[in-house]
Amino acid sequence: MPELPEVETLRHDLDKEVQGRRVKGVEVRTAHVVRRHRNRKEFAKRLLGRKLGGARRLGVLLAIALDGGEALVVDLGPAGRLRKERSSAPVDRQTDAVVSFTVGGDLRALDLGEAGELFVAAEAELDELAEERRGAIDPLADALTWQAFNARLESRQEGLRALLTDRSFVAGIGPVYADEILWGSELRWDRRAGSLAAQEVRRLHRAIQEVVQEAVRLRGSSVGDTPWLDLRGNKGEYEPQLNAYQREGQPCRRCRTPLVGERTERGETTYYCPKCQS
Ligand SMILES: [Zn+2]
Repeated sequence: MPELPEVETLRHDLDKEVQGRRVKGVEVRTAHVVRRHRNRKEFAKRLLGRKLGGARRLGVLLAIALDGGEALVVDLGPAGRLRKERSSAPVDRQTDAVVSFTVGGDLRALDLGEAGELFVAAEAELDELAEERRGAIDPLADALTWQAFNARLESRQEGLRALLTDRSFVAGIGPVYADEILWGSELRWDRRAGSLAAQEVRRLHRAIQEVVQEAVRLRGSSVGDTPWLDLRGNKGEYEPQLNAYQREGQPCRRCRTPLVGERTERGETTYYCPKCQS
């Protein structure tokens, strides 16, 4: 499942691998993924002949600049992938769209599902998308002091895990990094956000930065049945660093107490140390 570190890894790879390429062909295999456009043909027409520029991130959306001022926006949804392939490589069944380049090679979008999508956005629409995300903390973009972070926490009544995974509060933190951040800050998942002491807010603030930055450095995590893969089809390398996520029954790396898995009110499982997280 792509969370912030995985999307940032893709952004970086896109800059290296597809920037400067010109679109020669567009094949949309699942009409649903271009639902913002009138039809597949209109989407293809907006892309054909355009040269791709740098990629930027708006939360967990990717926006690849196009010459002439628009951008190709990619929303991966909960399980989507982007893949750079040779044009001759067989097209997987899960492929939703293929963008091919004049110098060879394809950019393919796979497993976008019901929620994921691709669309060409004009500048005004991009500004709007950025504006919608302005309220959420982006741990990679915002140099937020812990005092400012504290001010945002104070008014919140929900548990910490629910807050961390709320996209309107912080961008791109899902179940994996939420559990890691909470383990790193020695806080329980169900502590009320507004109940933290100053010292605890500092620890949480630091853990968000540390976990996300380290995960980006190691190119993300590939966990679960349909693991996330990067643009080249490789797994991320953060998994061995996971201290909590899916480590139920294994000893805590701080205090050796076996970790527990517990159902949250949303029916997800959260993993934590019952001794040193409080
Ligand atoms: Zn522990």
